[in-house]
Amino acid sequence: MKSFIYNGQAGRVIFGAGSLQHLVREIDALGARKALVLSTPEQRASAEMIADLLGSRAVGVFDRAVMHVPIETAREARELARKLGADCAVAIGGGSTTGLGKAMALDSGLPILAIPTTYAGSEMTPIYGITEAGMKKTGKDVRVLPRTVIYDPELTLGLPVGMSITSGINAIAHAAEGLYSVDCNPIMGLMAKEGIAAMGRALPAIKKVASDAAARSDALYGAWLCGTVLGNVGMALHHKLCHTLGGSFNLPHAETHTIVLPHALAYNAAAAPEAMADIAVALGAVHGPQAVFDLAKNNGAPVALRDIGMKEADLDRACDMAMQNQYPNPRPLERRAIRQLLQQAFDGERPG
Ligand code: NAD
Repeated sequence: MKSFIYNGQAGRVIFGAGSLQHLVREIDALGARKALVLSTPEQRASAEMIADLLGSRAVGVFDRAVMHVPIETAREARELARKLGADCAVAIGGGSTTGLGKAMALDSGLPILAIPTTYAGSEMTPIYGITEAGMKKTGKDVRVLPRTVIYDPELTLGLPVGMSITSGINAIAHAAEGLYSVDCNPIMGLMAKEGIAAMGRALPAIKKVASDAAARSDALYGAWLCGTVLGNVGMALHHKLCHTLGGSFNLPHAETHTIVLPHALAYNAAAAPEAMADIAVALGAVHGPQAVFDLAKNNGAPVALRDIGMKEADLDRACDMAMQNQYPNPRPLERRAIRQLLQQAFDGERPG
C-alpha cells in the first residue's frame, strides 16, 4: 500500500427515488427559513415546483443561471437574496446552476442545498468558476461546497438521452483521472471504480429506455461517486484540455469531455497501467481508452471535435495553451504527442 492522505469533506447526501419529499426537512436541518430557488431559464418550471414544495419557506425564484457563471449574474442573484432576506439557496439543475449557487456562497457564506439533474458532479466539489470580463477564473474554497445534496433520480427521467450520455461520460472523466491522480487514496480509488462501473451499466440502458428507473438511479449514483472523486483529488491532462477547449473555443462542456477522454487516457496509458486496467475492468472491457470511446459511439454521442464546432486551424493554439504551466500528469507533457492527441480527437479516431 502506498502512503496517502485522506481528507474527508463534510456534506450531507440524501439519495433515492422520491427523496425530494424530504426537502422541507432538509431546509429545516440547515436551520434555514427563507430559500431562494435557483435554476436556468429552461428549468424554470422545476424551480417553481421546488418553490411550491417549500411553500412559505420559499422567498423567490432566480431563473437566470447560465454556463460559466458570469460575475454579473452572480452579483444579481446575491443582491436578490439579500433583498428578500434569503438565508439559503436551493439550486436545481446541472453544473451551471450549482455553479451560480457556489458563486453566491463564496463571499456571502449562504448555505446551498443542491438538487442535481445532470451527472456533472459539481455539487460534490469545493471548486468554483466565475467569469469576469471574458476570463473564467476557477478556485477552490470549502465555503462553496453545498451543505446538503438531494439526489432524486426521478428528476433525471427527462434529461434528454443525448445529454445523459455525454454528461455520464463527463462524470466518468472525473473518476478516470482520479485513478491516476498524484493524490489518489484508497477510498477515492474505490469510489472511482464503482462510479465508472455504475455509469457504464447505466448509459446503454438509458439509451434503450430513457425512463428506465433503475438505470437512472445507477447513473445518478455513479455521478455522486465520480463527483466526489473530482472534489477530493487533483485532475490532470484531460481536465486541462477540456478547460482550455471549453473556455477559449467555446465548446460545449459535456460533449468536449466525451470526445477528449478516450484520447487523453490513451496518452497516459503506458504511464498509468493500473488505472487503465481498473477502467477497463469497470467497463467490462480489456482496453480502457477504447472502452470509453465505444461507450460514447455506441450510444450515439459525438466522438469528433470537428462535429461540435472546433476549427482545425485552432488546434495548434489549443495545444500551446495545454502546454502552458506544467501540472501533474502521469506522462510528461510532450508537445508533439499532445498535438497528435488533439488531431485524433478532432477527427474522431478510435484510440489504438
Ligand atoms: P448545465 O448545467 O449547463 O445544463 C445544460 C442544460 O441542460 C441547461 O439548459 C439545463 O437547464 C438543462 N438541464 C439540466 N438538467 C436537466 C434535466 N434533467 N432535464 C432537462 N434539461 C436539463 O450542464 P452541466 O453539464 O450539468 O454543467 C456544466 C457546467 O458545470 C460547466 O460550466 C462546468 O464547468 C461546470 N462544472 C463544474 C464543476 C465543479 O466542480 N465546479 C464540475 C462539473 C461541471
